[in-house]
Amino acid sequence: MTDIIVVGGGCAGLTAALYAARAGKSVLVFEAENIGGQITAAPQIDNYPGMPHVSGMQFADSLYEQVTELGVEIELEPVLRVENSPSCKTVITENSRYECRAVILATGSKHRVMGIPREEELTGHGISYCAVCDGAFYKDCPVAVVGGGNTAIGDALFLSSCCNSVTIIHRRGEFRADASLLARAKAKSNIYWMTGTVPEELLGGNNLTGIRVRSQTTGEGSVLAVDALFIAIGQIPENSAFAGLLAMDDAGYLLAGEDCTTNVSGIYAAGDCRTKAVRQLTTAVADGANAAKAAWECASK
Ligand code: NAP
Repeated sequence: MTDIIVVGGGCAGLTAALYAARAGKSVLVFEAENIGGQITAAPQIDNYPGMPHVSGMQFADSLYEQVTELGVEIELEPVLRVENSPSCKTVITENSRYECRAVILATGSKHRVMGIPREEELTGHGISYCAVCDGAFYKDCPVAVVGGGNTAIGDALFLSSCCNSVTIIHRRGEFRADASLLARAKAKSNIYWMTGTVPEELLGGNNLTGIRVRSQTTGEGSVLAVDALFIAIGQIPENSAFAGLLAMDDAGYLLAGEDCTTNVSGIYAAGDCRTKAVRQLTTAVADGANAAKAAWECASK
């Protein structure tokens, strides 16, 4: 029986694995998609203490090396559900069942879609949810970013260095993004701002050629000619596999505090998948450490 299974190989999950392995526990991590999770899409991390200007990919790569050197096993397989019994926890994947003493859920969250017509059809043909992954395809082209949070403004800054122009479309006049990030974006001569505006129609044939947008204040419509629209409008937690087993809030986040304990003994929630006020790399890795400690104490009983 494994001591601790971590579900999710993002920064919270890998930090939990790092701490648990250093405490001498056997650790198995399941990751459904990409190791490192959402941080791999961050062009540049400027708010991780002591590591200015590191890219998300560099950060994730070195964390991966650090945990695998400690003997942590990583399986690239989605977890379908977790079962709880008095003697152990069972983590179920499509191909197998894995028993362990404690489980740490660090499943993170996925991007929210706009839900406008043709969004899915044009994904990969002008619609993107990842500026780092797809920005280079639009070198010297006009592009737009929708959203007003740190992701949207960070994406716009990244895109401004390779694209001809970047228009930020945001539904309100105020932004959620950090003031320092906004100030950097405002200083760029090729970033344009369209506030109080929402995209309502995607134009073009096989590829996006423009967006019809509508002003929230005047109700007026207009067309913005762009080759790509980067959608950065927030996240949805990836917790559906645990519905019925664990308590969640209305938005689907696992109910857990700073100690990462859930309503089920021996199952812990770390990182963006749990209820919390601040979802940052720093808070994700802090959760990893807290959840690991709680889990290794449980596994040692
Ligand atoms: P977010 O902070 O939740 O912002 C989402 C933005 O999208 C908001 O401006 C929101 O508008 C807008 N929005 C939501 N639904 C929309 C819709 N249907 N149509 C149009 N606009 C919509 O999401 P995020 O930027 O992805 O950030 C998520 C978390 O990660 C945050 O805690 C953020 O601080 C963190 N993060 C940190 C960093 C960093 O530290 N470097 C980088 C990226 C993300 P309203 O403002 O009107 O609600």
